This record gives sequence, C-alpha cells and structure tokens, in this order.
Amino acid sequence: MRFSGFKVIKEALMGHKGWGPQWRNPEPKSHYDIIIIGGGGHGLATAYYLAKEFGQKNIAVLEKGWIGGGNVGRNTTIIRSNYLLDGNEPFYEFSLKLWEGLEQDFNYNAMVSQRGILNLIHSDGQRDAFMRRGNGMILNGADAEYLTADQIRAENPFLNFDDARFPIKGGLAQRRGGTVRHDAVAWGYARGADQRGVDIIQNCEVTGLRIENGVCKGVETSRGFIGANKVGSCVAGSSSRIMAHANIRLPIESHVLQAFVSEGLKPTIPGVITFGAGHFYVSQSDKGGLVFGGDIDGYNTYAQRGNLPTVEDVCESGMAIMPMIGRSRMLRMWGGVMDMSMDGSPIIDKTHIDGLYFNGGWCYGGFKATPASGWCYAHLLAKDEPHKVATAYRLDRFKRGYMIDEKGMGAQPNLH
Ligand SMILES: Cc1cc2nc3c(=O)[nH]c(=O)nc-3n(C[C@H](O)[C@H](O)[C@H](O)COP(=O)(O)OP(=O)(O)OC[C@H]3O[C@@H](n4cnc5c(N)ncnc54)[C@H](O)[C@@H]3O)c2cc1C
Repeated sequence: MRFSGFKVIKEALMGHKGWGPQWRNPEPKSHYDIIIIGGGGHGLATAYYLAKEFGQKNIAVLEKGWIGGGNVGRNTTIIRSNYLLDGNEPFYEFSLKLWEGLEQDFNYNAMVSQRGILNLIHSDGQRDAFMRRGNGMILNGADAEYLTADQIRAENPFLNFDDARFPIKGGLAQRRGGTVRHDAVAWGYARGADQRGVDIIQNCEVTGLRIENGVCKGVETSRGFIGANKVGSCVAGSSSRIMAHANIRLPIESHVLQAFVSEGLKPTIPGVITFGAGHFYVSQSDKGGLVFGGDIDGYNTYAQRGNLPTVEDVCESGMAIMPMIGRSRMLRMWGGVMDMSMDGSPIIDKTHIDGLYFNGGWCYGGFKATPASGWCYAHLLAKDEPHKVATAYRLDRFKRGYMIDEKGMGAQPNLH
C-alpha cells in the first residue's frame, strides 16, 4: 500500500476502512543472513538500506520491547549538520541530504521540517569558534550563515536583548537544519524494511552472543537461539551490555538525558535555538508545545528517567534567553539512555570477532545521524568495508590516538 493524497481523500470518504497494519508480526526463523540487534532508528534504517540499497534479503531486526520505545522516540527531534571536524562533517551532511529526500524515499510522512537552527553567540571568543565551525561546514558543502544580533532580534523578538546576563552578540545559523517527527522515522523505516522482506521481531530480547572459535554464530534471545552469518549490534544506550556478551569493553558510558515539553502556546519560536552560555536547546512542535532539553544528568545509569536538579538547571538556562517561558507550564518530561563515547563521536565498525559488528556511541546527537548511520552500517555489513563518510568511526581510534573530539573536552564522556 502506497500513501498518497489521493489515498487519504479516498479513505476519508470510505470511513477509513482501507488502512492495514504497517508491518507484519513474524515469528523468528532459525537462521538469517544478517541480524540487527535493536529496533531503534539506527537499527531499522540499517535493515531498510540493507534491503533497498545493498540487495540483502534474509534480514531480521530483534527488538527487546517495541520499535520506537527507545531513544528514537525520546529525543528532541533536532536535525542539523553543523559540525567542525573532518571526521564528522561529511557524515552529518550526508545524513542531512538523506533527510531531505527521506519522506519520498520511504513514502511516509515523517514531518521533516527544515525550519532552521540558530546557535547563539555570547562572547567574542565564541564568535571566533563559531566562525571557524561555519567555515568548516561550508568547506564540506553544508550551509552556514553568520547572523548579527540585530538580524537575530528581527527574526526572534522574544529573545532577551534587554537585560540578559549573557548578552546575545550574534549567531551561527544553518537554515537547512530543523526538526523531524521522531517516532514517524521509526515507523517509516520499519514499514519500508518490512515491505522489502525484513522480519521485525518485537518483544525479543538478545540475552547472549554465541561465539565459537572467534566467529559469531548467532544470538541467544528470550525466544530461543537464532543463527546468523552476521550480527550487528545497534542498541545505543545498551551497547556496553550487548558487547559484554562478547567480552568487549567499549569506550562508552551510559548516561540519562531528559527532554521536556510545555503546554501548547501560540506560534512563538520559528526554528531551533540553542543557548551558547549554558546547555539549552528549544523548538516548538506543530501542536504548540515548547520542546526543550539541556545537559545529561551526569552520572552513569541505565534508567530512563532523570532528576530534579537537572530540571532546574535546564529551565534556568532557558529563562536566561527567554524569560517568558517561566510563565508556561511543563506538561511532560522523560529520559533516555545515552551511549556517551570518550570523544563524543560515534563508532561504526567491525569487531575482532568474525561476523560481529558494532554501531554506537551516538551521545545525544544520534537522531540526526539516523539515515547516514543506517546507510553506512548497511554498507559495512554488506561489503565489509566502511562507507567513505564513516571511515573515521573506527573502534580502535582511542587506542591509536585518532580521536574525533568535536568539543575539545578530552576523554570525559559526560562533558561531550
Ligand atoms: C532526551 C533526548 C533528547 C535527544 N535529542 C536529540 C536531538 O535533538 N537530536 C539528535 O540528533 N539526537 C538526539 N538524541 C539522541 C538520539 O535520540 C539517539 O542518539 C539515537 O536515537 C540513538 O539511536 P537509536 O534510535 O537506534 O536508539 P534507540 O531508539 O534507543 O534504539 C536502540 C534499541 O535497542 C533496543 N535494545 C536494547 N537492548 C536490547 C537487547 N538486549 N535486545 C534487543 N533489543 C535491545 C532498545 O529497546 C531500543 O529500542 C536525544 C536523546 C534523548 C534521550
């Protein structure tokens, strides 16, 4: 079934009786060519591109809960490609280009909205750093624009320009950045993968990896053993747990990150805005809620809920640039488990165990990476060599000293 304007009108006139389930609910087979562990955005995108772009046929995605229940359905929906370093920028720009054609590609309305992202600048040193980043983006084919304080004021009159503790001195804008409805991304990829024969098996937790003589033969699950020629871990915040089954200790810590949604307000914020003197990012959903977040809570955990001191910190940062949000009521908040790597950049690589592959370390920027991560992981799984925009994302880069430390924070996962 294809979605189209015609189909929507037809169904409206026929009482919406023609919509069917968007994907099957198959029983697991005893063996697959490729098993992807984790039905988040990255796992589903990997399966979709494996089937669509790399001609693979016998694929399963194993998800311990329901698809979309992890970080793909918990994030603040921001997409962008405003990175500085060569290891990162081509990858994230590839991702942004895939977002731009995604809805047509998988024939699903994911509400991709290129409403722009604006990083506020509050000091002269920060202006220098952001100018450098903007130039790095342009050199890699992305768009970047410096805005003066007056230009920002004209576009965002609600920001505090009068008595701000950290005055707004300018901003770095990427007009092609924006937001995407996060859970529709999971559903769109799931539907597209299912249509191409991928088995999406929910309520199937991977509890072990069967490794014999240095070769991964398949996975132990809550529904029994399932064999595979290749197994790809793609479980984001649970990465260390899965790889521990192969005795692999990752350069990753798991932390909780919270997100917040206010009550519906009249249209206020045109795009995504980030505060440069603290950690705060905000956009407005189409329903009117302000969607915002800040820093991780700062301690290692696998819990999907956070603590009140971080709530206070995030709200204080928000009020520093938009004092009026102190008058709005918060409707919802939740947490997600982040796979924070030592240098703040991800890993897409083979492991030393034959047939076992790894994708993780997305920190809190992995949603925007979903299409490119899926494509590059599929490339690696299908061809056994990295995609050209993901060559830097090697597992051994920490040992070799080739870190991709976008923020220049050093080996401090909680600070990236
Ligand atoms: C509050 C918050 C805000 C964020 N905001 C942004 C943002 O604005 N922009 C951005 O780019 N990124 C953002 N992120 C980060 C982004 O959401 C993640 O980096 C990305 O979603 C991770 O990839 P995923 O979608 O595959 O993860 P997930 O959706 O978490 O997928 C992993 C899946 O693996 C499953 N799994 C785990 N263990 C097992 C097992 N043993 N067996 C089977 N399945 C298993 C889980 O149930 C889960 O469904 C945010 C994250 C959070 C929590």
